[in-house]
Amino acid sequence: MKNIIVLGATGSIGDSVLSVIKQNKNKLNLLGITFSSNIAKAKNIINEFKLKNVYSDSDESHKSLKHTYENNQELNILREKSELEELLNKDDVDIIVSAISGFSGLESTLMAAKTGKTILLANKESIVVAGEVVLPLAKEHSTEIIPIDSEHNAIFQCLNSNKNTDDVSKIIITASGGPFLNKKISQLSKVTKKEALNHPNWEMGAKITIDSASLVNKCLELIEAKYLFNLNEKFFDLVVHPQSIIHSIVTYTDGSSICQMSNPDMRVPIAHALSVHNKRLSLNFSEIDFSSLKLTFQDIPEDRSGLVNIARNICNLGGSSGTIFNAANEIAVQSFLEEQITFDKIYEVIYRTFDAIPVSKNVDIDTIYETDNETRIEAKKVVKSIS
Ligand code: NDP
Ligand code: MG
Repeated sequence: MKNIIVLGATGSIGDSVLSVIKQNKNKLNLLGITFSSNIAKAKNIINEFKLKNVYSDSDESHKSLKHTYENNQELNILREKSELEELLNKDDVDIIVSAISGFSGLESTLMAAKTGKTILLANKESIVVAGEVVLPLAKEHSTEIIPIDSEHNAIFQCLNSNKNTDDVSKIIITASGGPFLNKKISQLSKVTKKEALNHPNWEMGAKITIDSASLVNKCLELIEAKYLFNLNEKFFDLVVHPQSIIHSIVTYTDGSSICQMSNPDMRVPIAHALSVHNKRLSLNFSEIDFSSLKLTFQDIPEDRSGLVNIARNICNLGGSSGTIFNAANEIAVQSFLEEQITFDKIYEVIYRTFDAIPVSKNVDIDTIYETDNETRIEAKKVVKSIS
């Protein structure tokens, strides 16, 4: 039996992880969760899984849990960060799923990196902003990081569930293109929040759905891949594949290209990661209908090349550049969702903020938090100047 803690269990990745656990109750056990504000959903999970451990750093959530479960002696309701850290380090914990969205996921990913357990990583932002800190820390503590972002999990599967890339000549990261595929940036000034949140293939949290629509998600994924597989950005091509059936392709030095395919369903990469190095789990998946399958591929739109070039530069620059890019984007996305800027201005906020903040080469966790803070202030100024 593998005991699992899910960080950010009330989100979209949380849903998929819990669904895989439910389908494999004889092998997987949910030992604890963290969440932020979705109290009703957290309570459903606690009741359904007869949960033993729950953590939230929100006062309101904590108070509500204490009230509802005052007579439940079986449930540990945690409030302090030290209590969460203690839980993650318990002997019976095997797997920690990092599925909080955005920069907020960094703190608990760092905690998990120090445990020596297996991390299933969804929170790509923690690698983009702090790959240079998280990865060495994980290595130092013998913590294995298994990607569950579908493209990175696909690459990992194509590499036979390891990260050895000695005989790799090329990796293609596929992109769905999102709801605005084939639209120029100049045509995006009037798109609504509803349209931007309506992804054609995937059901995901709001932030990553907007990132998919802007193609920032693919930029974050390029940087994530560079760090996770320790390869120069030149090895990676980004290709639009609107059907989201092939999740990435690894071409080896002898000319063989291996790809991983499934219908778009996050439970597939999650199930692989939950059974990594063991026999595969069983999942109630929808089969690909190969007889009617049409797979198409196209280049990343020309007018998004500036954005991709920034991501490629970040791969080469390292240091604080990923933190600056990520924070600028988080403010841009939040401002769009709060209807302070139009969709096309997301790019302007990122470009202008990225240009305004100097990149420092050597980072530690304190400088990453400082840079994140400084960048958010700058990005808000840019938003104010154009809204
Ligand atoms: P959601 O917005 O659906 O869920 C986010 C989760 O994080 C919720 O449990 C939320 O709690 C919690 N959370 C949010 N803010 C905080 C905070 N400040 N402190 C603590 N917890 C917080 O996001 P997704 O599940 O879509 O995405 C999660 C991560 O996985 C992201 O990094 C995303 O890029 C990545 N990912 C997601 C994919 C997907 O299919 N969804 C695919 C590939 C990667 P609450 O709801 O209770 O407030
Ligand atoms: Mg992805």
